[in-house]
Parts: sequence; C-alpha cells; structure tokens
Amino acid sequence: MSFRAVQVTKSDAGQSVGFADLEDADLMDGDVTVRVTHSTVNYKDGLALSGKSAIPRKFPLLLGIDFAGVVETSSHPGFKPGDDVIANGFGLGETHSGGYSQRARVSGDWLVKLPAPFSRAEAMAIGTAGYTAALALDALEQAGVAPEMGPAVVTGAAGGVGSIAIALLAKAGWSVIASTGRTAEADYLKTIGATEILDRVSLSAPAKPLARERWIAGVDSVGSNTLANLLAQTKYRGAIAACGLAGGMDLPGSVAPFILRGVRLIGIDSVQCPMPQRRAAWSRLARDLDRGILASMTQTIPFKDLFATGEAILKGQVRGRVVVELP
Ligand code: NDP
Repeated sequence: MSFRAVQVTKSDAGQSVGFADLEDADLMDGDVTVRVTHSTVNYKDGLALSGKSAIPRKFPLLLGIDFAGVVETSSHPGFKPGDDVIANGFGLGETHSGGYSQRARVSGDWLVKLPAPFSRAEAMAIGTAGYTAALALDALEQAGVAPEMGPAVVTGAAGGVGSIAIALLAKAGWSVIASTGRTAEADYLKTIGATEILDRVSLSAPAKPLARERWIAGVDSVGSNTLANLLAQTKYRGAIAACGLAGGMDLPGSVAPFILRGVRLIGIDSVQCPMPQRRAAWSRLARDLDRGILASMTQTIPFKDLFATGEAILKGQVRGRVVVELP
C-alpha cells in the first residue's frame, strides 16, 4: 500500500528532509502495522525536521517521535486490528521510522493502548512532552516532596513540557511558579494553573553556589544556567526533575545544593522508560489532566505545515502543544 511520509536521507552533502511517497516495503520491521491518524511537534521533532541535528541516526528514516493511530495488522498478542494505540520513544524518529507517516510498522512492545477518556488527537496533544511532564511529577512524588512543603517551579513554562507540568502540578494542589521568557503569556499560564510568573531572565545568569531558598520542587525544560539557578534556590531536601535542554546542554553549577541542603536532581528520560512507569504516567494524565485545559493549550495543524511549525518550536514561538493531523 502506498502512503505519504516525511523522510530524511543522508549523503556526503548532509541530510535532506522532505515529503516522500512510499510503499509498505519501505517500512521497517515490526509485528504491528498502524494507520497513523495524528502526530505532534516536540522540540526534538523541530531539531530533526531542521535536517541539521544528530536526532536521526539511521538513513533513510521517517521522522516523528510520536504517533496515535489504529492497528491494521498485528501478530503481537497484545494488539488486534481496530485497536487505538499510541507510541512514543523507543527510538521512533531516531533509529526506527516514526509518526510523520500515514503508516507505521513497529514492535507491539512499544505500543500503549489509547487510555480512556482521550481521543487519538488528545493523546497527541499530550504527546511525548506531556507524558514526560507526567514522568517528572511521578518522580517528584517518589522523592517525597509535597505541596505543603512549598511551591514548585516550572521552567520553559509556555512550552509543551512546561504547560502540561503546570496543569498537572496545579491539579495535585501545588502553588506553581512559572518561569517564562514570554511574560505576555502570563494570563495563559495562570489559566492553566500557574500562581506566580517569573521572568526567565532572572534564572539565566551564571548561578551562585547557593541562593535564597524559594521552592521545594521543580520541573526544568531548559538546562544550563537555568537549572543551576533552580538548584541553588531549592529549599532544604527539595527535588528538581531535569527534563530538557532548550537553553543548553551544560550544567554550570556547584555541588553546594546537594551537600549542604540535601537537594536531589532527578533525571527524566522518556525514550527508554520501561513500560510500567510509562503506563503509570498515562494513568496520571488520564486521571488528572483537565481536557478543557488541554484543549486551551493545543493548536492543530495539517501535515503540510509541519516544517513551518518545526522552525517555530526551535525559536521558542510555539505556545503549549501542537497536534498534527495526518491526511
Ligand atoms: P518547547 O519548545 O515546547 O518548550 C521549550 C520552552 O523552553 C520554550 O517554549 C521556552 O519557554 C523555553 N526556552 C526556549 N529556548 C530557551 C532558552 N534559550 N533559554 C531559556 N528558555 C528557553 O519544547 P518541549 O516542551 O517539547 O521540550 C522542552 C525540552 O524538554 C526540550 O529541550 C526537549 O528536548 C526536552 N524533552 C526531553 C524529554 C526527555 O525524555 N527527557 C522528552 C520531551 C522533551 P518560555 O517561552 O516559556 O520561556
């Protein structure tokens, strides 16, 4: 069967990314074939679509780190034709052809059944970004921090991970300090659950080893000086979940918060996250994420607009989440 997809190829001149018309024989190995109906645009997708990143590591490859769709054929015991499924991580869009494709063939071990009450479009409004935010909340709770101990800070607040982290933290009873470069989005951030807005400039200068204690918990999408400042301002025995690198991959900080305040730094990886934690994160989303709030932070784009949105997300111009409708 023929289908349309976004394909990256590589030659001596570098990567070339564009729409391609392909056949089932172009799909990679797997025991489940899915008709993809929706995908999304994460920061990592923006990098991959630019054709200048190290995200794709096999060529040719179909891009897109998430998808939602309907099973067409399956020899996996967990799935049958007609099942609604979602997939993210496990190398999709990096080492295995992913979700920017009308058809996908993957291992059934990577698939999650669409959790009620979400539609396939809503699952992609959540996508890797939202599921990563849920993993971060699970990790913070396991670290023993709780709303009665103080506020939580969220950086990259108007982005995808940030927006869903704010909604989930607010629902769990936290006071949420939203750090953003887009202070004009203060009303939006308050609507989705922020109680205080912090201009991200105040967290972007090189960090002192320790500073005034301000929050007990945090979800960070930014890295670099921002993460170092977050740690320096975390209360005694607090915890910060490090999710992203939108501001840089370095961490120019000090061990002082760890050895003098017992602060914990927790790494969040969505890609190889084992299935039990993955299902737990989706259960939290199904239980706690208000679908009206999700809709208010989501825009929907046609497949053909993918490249423009990929450029916008790298410039920090996408607010909240994006759903991509496959034709
Ligand atoms: P978005 O682009 O939607 O959000 C990132 C936000 O970070 C922007 O909206 C902006 O927020 C802020 N930001 C952007 N550039 C800078 C900068 N130079 N300095 C400070 N802040 C900046 O991306 P996602 O939410 O999809 O992803 C966020 C990060 O998390 C990315 O680095 C991504 O790679 C990573 N990630 C990691 C995962 C994992 O498994 N660990 C899974 C998913 C994402 P504002 O305008 O509010 O300041």
